[in-house]
Amino acid sequence: MQNLLLVRYGEIFLKGLNRPYFIRALVRKVRYAVRGMGAEVWVHDGRIFVRGFNDLEECISRVTKVFGVHSVCPAVEMPKEDFEAICAQAVEMAKDLKGTFKVNARRADKRYPMNSMAINEEVGYRILQANPDLKVDVHNPEHLVNIEIRDMAYLYVKVIPAVGGMPVGTNGNATLLLSGGIDSPVAGWMIAKRGVQINAVHFHSYPYTSDRAKEKVLDLARKLSFSCCGIKVYVVPFTEIQMAIHEKCPEEYTTLIMRRYMMRIAERIAKDTESEALITGESIGQVASQTMTALGTTNAVVEMPVFRPLIGFDKSEIIDVARKIGTLEISELPYEDCCTVFTPRHPATHPKMDKILEGEARLDSEELIQRALDGVEMIRV
Ligand code: ATP
Ligand code: MG
Repeated sequence: MQNLLLVRYGEIFLKGLNRPYFIRALVRKVRYAVRGMGAEVWVHDGRIFVRGFNDLEECISRVTKVFGVHSVCPAVEMPKEDFEAICAQAVEMAKDLKGTFKVNARRADKRYPMNSMAINEEVGYRILQANPDLKVDVHNPEHLVNIEIRDMAYLYVKVIPAVGGMPVGTNGNATLLLSGGIDSPVAGWMIAKRGVQINAVHFHSYPYTSDRAKEKVLDLARKLSFSCCGIKVYVVPFTEIQMAIHEKCPEEYTTLIMRRYMMRIAERIAKDTESEALITGESIGQVASQTMTALGTTNAVVEMPVFRPLIGFDKSEIIDVARKIGTLEISELPYEDCCTVFTPRHPATHPKMDKILEGEARLDSEELIQRALDGVEMIRV
């Protein structure tokens, strides 16, 4: 007898001829998630199993976070010949259940001496005898006791919901502008959930922002990485650009101009890493740099599509998601962000493009951008 984890996928099942491709992608991600646990991940009849892990709870915790996993079921694999042992195992697995149940036997091996009906009846009877808290309901049961007869017998009862979405990489790559705030990790999570492999760009203004602020951003990326199975974080030295903007551009435009440089640099990194889009945590009207006019001016410097999945979210809705995905407690740590260091007293809410261009014309843009790119540090999390 052996403990396994059956990994169930939802939406990717619908992908028709692409299904094997999606399953392979998901298997790679699940393998990544359980690395170091001594576990083996394999596909059998279009189903994904994990076995050989030393810690079931840890294995469940890791696998349920992987995008593309719909639910997991702790399962038992045993020889199918000993029907008594199968009954005993089913009784054991149903012993804590309450309410209604049904046995759901499937016989892939048609030579098996009992048919599914007979298995259902016999196992159902044994469970009822052993657990007085249960009643049979064949139409709408609260619990399913699944028994699959294949090369071996597989039994599973408990269904543990997982994160859902699609395996990352099956829908291309995008680059997330990741600050230490609440919004951008949520934005990245939402896009990655749709099967997009993300990498992150963080603008760091050492020494105005500390190493702890950078560490915080890496912690956020690590949180996302549990679901994305590996993220590259590009840390861009941004101090020189910020200083130059601060010195030479009109004060009410400094934030916007800074945001335009962030977009330009992120797009360069995105192109180098085969990303097809940028992702930001912007939401209409949240701050001065996110009025529609302001968003237009930052959008104008890039050619790539910019995904802003939070565009119509209230802050409270964003916070709810951040709490659910576990990034909120990290984002709320107090370390300073490069945006807050050089914040103007009265940022322009209806920025004029000619003023922005006038300001930027005083900067040696190409050289500044190149030097920032030369100083990029890549960290895998
Ligand atoms: P967040 O909560 O993500 O920090 P915010 O509400 O603070 O967002 P802004 O500071 O205006 O908003 O930033 C808007 C977006 O620009 C962020 O969601 C993020 O995508 C990007 N951004 C801001 N600062 C940085 C940074 N230091 N490094 C990388 N991206 C950044
Ligand atoms: Mg921010």
